[in-house]
Amino acid sequence: MSWIGDFVSETVVKALSTARKTFESGRTRDASWREKQLDGLIRLLEENDERLIAALDADLGKPRAEGWTTDLGTTATEISYIRKNIRKWMKSRKVRVPMVAQPGRGFIKPEPLGVILVITPWNYPISLLLNPLAAVFAAGNTAVCKPSELAPECSKLMAELLPQYVDPGAALVVEGDVEVATELLEQKWDHIFFTGSTNVGQIVMQAAANHLTPVTLELGGKSPTIVDESADLTAAANRIAWGKFLNAGQTCIAPDYVFAHENIREELIDGIKQAVSGFYGSDPQASPDYARIVSERHLNRLTGLLDDGTVVLGGNHDASDRYLEPTILVDPSEDSAVMSDEIFGPILPILSFMDLEEVIGFVNARPKPLALYIFSNTKKVVDEVISQTSSGGVCVNHSLLHYGVSDLGFGGVGDSGTGRYHGKSGFDQFSNMKSVLKKSSKPELTLLYPPYTDKKEKIFRKFV
Ligand code: NAD
Repeated sequence: MSWIGDFVSETVVKALSTARKTFESGRTRDASWREKQLDGLIRLLEENDERLIAALDADLGKPRAEGWTTDLGTTATEISYIRKNIRKWMKSRKVRVPMVAQPGRGFIKPEPLGVILVITPWNYPISLLLNPLAAVFAAGNTAVCKPSELAPECSKLMAELLPQYVDPGAALVVEGDVEVATELLEQKWDHIFFTGSTNVGQIVMQAAANHLTPVTLELGGKSPTIVDESADLTAAANRIAWGKFLNAGQTCIAPDYVFAHENIREELIDGIKQAVSGFYGSDPQASPDYARIVSERHLNRLTGLLDDGTVVLGGNHDASDRYLEPTILVDPSEDSAVMSDEIFGPILPILSFMDLEEVIGFVNARPKPLALYIFSNTKKVVDEVISQTSSGGVCVNHSLLHYGVSDLGFGGVGDSGTGRYHGKSGFDQFSNMKSVLKKSSKPELTLLYPPYTDKKEKIFRKFV
């Protein structure tokens, strides 16, 4: 192994052993330790918001208001919610005890899992690190975190700030790229929490299998958006444009493509065009409210999709500025790349339908999405779509906002992920729900023991 390889290995092993030592000290089990860590995370966000916003701008050209709302503000709100509820969630949960185990007391006691590996992507580099970390602490665990190398300023800032605000032995940041991630995945963890692409999710799950380590996979995919004839088209256009072009489309739950009813498709397209010019003006490149594509490689990938349909809005790009204009494509073929791969950029394909069954069939014939959006004022249509399709989450008549509802939990299904977090779901995800039955030594139920007799069997048949 090269000296760089040796250095990576040493750093990884040291971080893991520090996090393990902290966990084994027992201090993380205490409710007040957990609350203190969450207070630390909230203070980190409050006291450094200008630096964090600057790092988001440097990495992603993230507009100030978007940085604050999507990465900082919502994260602080989520952490406060967890902070408020920790003691309640930590309590044992009583269960019913059947006759055969009576007299006895049954309960589920949440206990921490241990040391969690948290691997994060670049698109919301602060919130996608601090949100899971809050749940890790809430459940009494420690963590080693690897931020994305594609958001280097945010990664550096997390490595610098975290030890100043939380127990430095409980959240170790190991910066680096695939080589570092690979080295981390070779170690034995108590749980791996991964946010990123479906392809890398497979690699993570395979590595975890070597140690039988459980995983949470927060992955991506193509989130369909359906707009039927009864929808309020102005609201639908604004809300789709907002959800799609926020962070220049680099959002895991961004509406990926739209199926609009044939009778309203043109009106919807006009509405989205108006929304885009209302949001970003006639030249989005000059707007302070429009983000940039994370890297030249991603920009090239995206511009390569522009020929997959007819561009009816946007399409302009500028490599020197990593800029791609908010773009609408119509009539892409169903087997084109833009309709097969997650777009993860500001290109919105809009297709039309006449029969809702066709759209449901289209969605069900493809990998299960992370989110599904339905814009309609017809209850029957909404209920039909919700009950006949499968996705990690659904948001009716808006986009993205379900992500911020802590009690809904957040996660995917099938190709879009496994496991959930946010609110109590995150606490449960990072806890072992230990089943405990407490009996006293009396009375002694000899009926259970051999030798078995006909009389005993009759009693078993009646009561067991
Ligand atoms: P990615 O999968 O390329 O990278 C994610 C992390 O994995 C990074 O830290 C990276 O260094 C690491 N990684 C990359 N290749 C690896 C490998 N071969 N082995 C081990 N680790 C590796 O994803 P990305 O480009 O950073 O993020 C975009 C993807 O993430 C999109 O698919 C998006 O939908 C998804 N995403 C999902 C959520 C969610 O909550 N479900 C949130 C944000 C992004």
